[in-house]
Amino acid sequence: MSLSPKRLTALVSSVLAALLVFAGQPAIAAKDTPLSDAFARAAAAQDVPRDLLVALAYAETHLDGHNGEPSASGGYGVMHLVSNPTTKALEKAAGLTGLTAKKLRADTEANILGGAALLRANADELGLDQAARKDPGRWYEAVAKYGNTASPQLARLYADAVYELLGLGIQTKDVRVAPQEVTADRGQYANTRSLSAEAASPDYPDATWTAASSSNYTASSRPSAYAIDRVIIHVTQGSYAGTISWFQNSAAQVSAHYVVKSSNGAITQMVRDKDIAWHAGNWSYNTRSIGIEHEGYVSEASWFTDAMYRSSAALTSYICDKYGIPKDRSHIIGHVEVPGADHTDPGPYWNWTTYMNYVTGGGTPSWTTTVDNATSGQFTASANWGTSTYSTQRYGADYRFADPVSASDAAWYQATIPSAGTYRVEVWYPDDAGYNSAAPYIVATSSGNQTVYVDQRSGGGSWHSLGSFSLNAGTANVVGVSRWTSGTGYVIADAVRISKV
Ligand SMILES: [Zn+2]
Repeated sequence: MSLSPKRLTALVSSVLAALLVFAGQPAIAAKDTPLSDAFARAAAAQDVPRDLLVALAYAETHLDGHNGEPSASGGYGVMHLVSNPTTKALEKAAGLTGLTAKKLRADTEANILGGAALLRANADELGLDQAARKDPGRWYEAVAKYGNTASPQLARLYADAVYELLGLGIQTKDVRVAPQEVTADRGQYANTRSLSAEAASPDYPDATWTAASSSNYTASSRPSAYAIDRVIIHVTQGSYAGTISWFQNSAAQVSAHYVVKSSNGAITQMVRDKDIAWHAGNWSYNTRSIGIEHEGYVSEASWFTDAMYRSSAALTSYICDKYGIPKDRSHIIGHVEVPGADHTDPGPYWNWTTYMNYVTGGGTPSWTTTVDNATSGQFTASANWGTSTYSTQRYGADYRFADPVSASDAAWYQATIPSAGTYRVEVWYPDDAGYNSAAPYIVATSSGNQTVYVDQRSGGGSWHSLGSFSLNAGTANVVGVSRWTSGTGYVIADAVRISKV
């Protein structure tokens, strides 16, 4: 493939601009923010929206190049340029940029340029012209294609994760993306059912079901064929959508029973408990265990979120109760602890103390407060929020509801936080098929607002954790419910509970 004249011009002028800056300001070392510069240069050279490029990289790797080592599915560098038996993205990037595969694998600046070139090639295939390329929302299908996923549902899961990051904003390793509202044009994926709307897991009520390729596990009839007496904890070395897609690929020759998502703890089951997933690298341990994969990389701590720990621990606790497995570290083990293991996961950043505490249900909060929509003086919402007593799952007398709109118009819960520190934030809502599929809860943390999306169509009538957050001391609006979501159905505001952890 050859570069179009326009892209050549862009490439040349960006190189020139960089040279001029360097010549004019020799005292300023570009080395201070090499990653940030690399994204800016690659975005300019390929005419790709810079923030979108960063969001895609963050969704893939949290901007960690893991020293040139490949991911589980053969992806390299911060842009996860894939080279495996069925996907040749790395080779395509080499053709587009004229850079060698070796350089694209190991050199971060080259890797980012390669990823930008692939994304741009996808946009060109879709016929995005120069004006359309300015709008990040128009790149949705190009992003979906970048994921090289096994199905349209996974392509949508992949692209949605990237656009969700644009909405939340990113700040890591000297690279910053401001939170922004982007209307994603889903194009051919507009009517693709989201993965969470697909079949429910047959073995665990809080998971969805996507089958692994039958080439990647052994059918069995456990626990009668083999007793199940271990849970084995893994880290994927890849993204959530990428891992699910890889286990669906018959070339993978690996699988796990469950995959857990970093940002919100969502769980997909891919192999039935009764069957033998190939995850431990040890046949005896495969036959006796349930394998749980966690989205992330062992070398990057930011993947290990409280939401993921809690969700995974609830799953492990359920499995232990179901099969009579003791909830201790002899029976809940890391892949690294499997005899003969050549893998190191879950690695040094996995917090076993926190995890086992959640599995066993230990840890009583020292302070807790509950704020309901009816709590006097502590709840504010505009007149656009209606009041309902429709669902019997409500907390207290009633709850508030509003249509989703492209404006925040948040309902806020005020609380008096006794001291600066880490607090668990939980929310209560009644669920209904007509309620919102992605209700944005805003938590005002000590480092700015963080948004957590909750599917209010299920899981209602009980406390649902948004995770643990660093909060400032004092009286303030701590938790909000925004109406600004691409999800459909009424956004519900009922009650929140904040507990010191
Ligand atoms: Zn593993």
